[in-house]
Amino acid sequence: MRYDNENIKIPQHHSYALFGIFMLKLFSISLRSLFSFLFFYTLSGSVRSEDMESKNQHMIQTQIISRGVRSQKVLDAMQSILRHEFVPAQYRAEAYEDRPVSIGYGQTISQPYIVALMTELLDVQKTDKVLEIGTGSGYQAAVLSRLAKKVYTMEIIPELAQSAKSQLKNKGYKNIEVICGDGYKGWPEQAPFQKIIITAAPPQIPQELIKQLADGGIMVVPVGEIFQELLKIEKKSNNITSQSIIPVRFVPMVKGSEE
Ligand code: SAH
Repeated sequence: MRYDNENIKIPQHHSYALFGIFMLKLFSISLRSLFSFLFFYTLSGSVRSEDMESKNQHMIQTQIISRGVRSQKVLDAMQSILRHEFVPAQYRAEAYEDRPVSIGYGQTISQPYIVALMTELLDVQKTDKVLEIGTGSGYQAAVLSRLAKKVYTMEIIPELAQSAKSQLKNKGYKNIEVICGDGYKGWPEQAPFQKIIITAAPPQIPQELIKQLADGGIMVVPVGEIFQELLKIEKKSNNITSQSIIPVRFVPMVKGSEE
């Protein structure tokens, strides 16, 4: 019995070796799976961002160039900014579709073509100070910032102003200032602006914003209620001219509370 017992007892150095092999095996398996996990994770990550870049490229080609937007600098600006990064996670899959996409709080990021068209109509120069009314996701401001000297953007919903502000900061946009406030009042401290873009629809052209438009400046604004049209307004020696571009459908520009 004793003999048997001694026989089946594994000497201590053997048990260490077995334990080592077991650990090595375990380790090598987990190391292998760890490596393959990391490999596929990185691969899928790069595939994912490549995927988004090609979706962006496809969007520009089929929705924007095909409809006649020709300004190379507008196309380049939109090429350099991935739209899905400005769309909340639950709607991100729709970011490159040919329509406005929800950004929460009952608001939308404009259809890609409309962003391109409005930006082209503004004819932004590197020396321009641009005022945007309706920051929303911050996407239009990001596009403008590639073309302008400085972009001032106003948003009436505090949560949207805050999230656009932090998104733009995280992405390293340095020439954009976001403020939470009522766009009907504009931003008199920073006026005049060479360009003004309104991305919500007021029932009439806001006169305070016309005042804040520089001489020689351009304003692009969707005006109306049920029926809206996109207007390109120009100010020359205090003479205002307006050109109707296309019918559009924007969320209303709401009145802020009076102070
Ligand atoms: N340009 C945005 C989309 C704008 S949607 C983007 O790129 O995502 C229109 C935005 O205008 C909404 O976020 C809405 O809250 C805002 N808005 C409506 N009325 C406003 C007002 N009086 N002043 C400032 N922002 C206003």
